Amino acid sequence: MKIVNGRLFALNIPFIEAFAHSTKTRSFSDSIILQVTADDGTVGYGEGVARPYVTGESVDSCLEHIQTQLWPAITAADFTPPTPGADPLGQLAAIDAALPDPPPRGVIAWHAARSAAEVAVLDCLLRSQQLSLGALLPPKRTTVVYSGVITSSSVETAVQHAKRLVYLGIRQLKLKVGGADDEPLVAAVRRAVGDDVSLRLDANGAYSVDGAIEMLKKLERHRIDSAEQPIPRGALADLAKVKRATSIPVMVDESLVTPDDARALIEHNACDFFNLRLSKCGGLHRTLLIARMAGQAGKRLQLGCQVGETAVLSAAGRHLAAHLDGLEFVEGSYGTLLLKEDLGRDNIHFGNGGRAPVLHGPGLGVEIDAKRLEKYATRIVALH
Ligand SMILES: [Mg+2]
Repeated sequence: MKIVNGRLFALNIPFIEAFAHSTKTRSFSDSIILQVTADDGTVGYGEGVARPYVTGESVDSCLEHIQTQLWPAITAADFTPPTPGADPLGQLAAIDAALPDPPPRGVIAWHAARSAAEVAVLDCLLRSQQLSLGALLPPKRTTVVYSGVITSSSVETAVQHAKRLVYLGIRQLKLKVGGADDEPLVAAVRRAVGDDVSLRLDANGAYSVDGAIEMLKKLERHRIDSAEQPIPRGALADLAKVKRATSIPVMVDESLVTPDDARALIEHNACDFFNLRLSKCGGLHRTLLIARMAGQAGKRLQLGCQVGETAVLSAAGRHLAAHLDGLEFVEGSYGTLLLKEDLGRDNIHFGNGGRAPVLHGPGLGVEIDAKRLEKYATRIVALH
């Protein structure tokens, strides 16, 4: 099966409210959507979220990488539609192998671009066969339960936000930290939500090694289930030192982009948890590969998201979350809880208790509204 043409969309979808962490405040989605059309007329969609501080990609460099590197390879390939029941990693490897992987000069990895390309081709191939992604990634559960995330803000606002999420039935919260006042912030949120709610922290690399050790020791008494990326991506010996110094499980996010990162983190025993994210890890094949490495090495798992993801990555993430074994925490699927409008005809954001059903429709299981894509596009590039 041949992919014959495509369109690239650079989006700007406003958020309902701004989202802040220790290094960045964001007020709109700048996702990149790749729409591909096959020779039988089937259309598929993929998404990547370029983040200079995660993979090193910018929106511009990501668009250029898709146009100049990935797109020529996609149109040159002859894809075999996936076969249900076969090993998903093997099935996805065929698409992965068709996508070039040049040395990542100037970036950590071209993973947002790769995610957009891989997911678009896969959605298209599955749709052409009237197959759901669930046929390739068989769901192990019927409902996915998402965490609530509390952005960087004052103690008062964070407490209000935490109470609101718990009122909506959410039992797993993640709090963005990284400031000097984290101890009173975490203490106040813990007091407000009680002892039964799971609380995790994400510093987005804001602490120094000594600062992280000192802060995490102070926070241990608040029953924290994980501390994500306490120090910046860098020396694994430093991360291992932080891990050894605290009883709070250490999760890697920015330090885990590629399968090579995963291998090195395992070798150095530098963390307890991996945070997988589809755009960060380069799509389903590489994310599944890293999840498998984690399983073999006894690393615990979270499936996260990029803030601002649309229904395309929300749906792909939903399938992966329903499929993966040993997944302890899931984030994402905010849809119109965060975006002014999402791209799907139906809303697929999580509901009460953070719960959302497994999707069953063809491909990713969401019908994308092409008019809305055009409405929120700041740039549209035609690909032939
Ligand atoms: Mg993170």
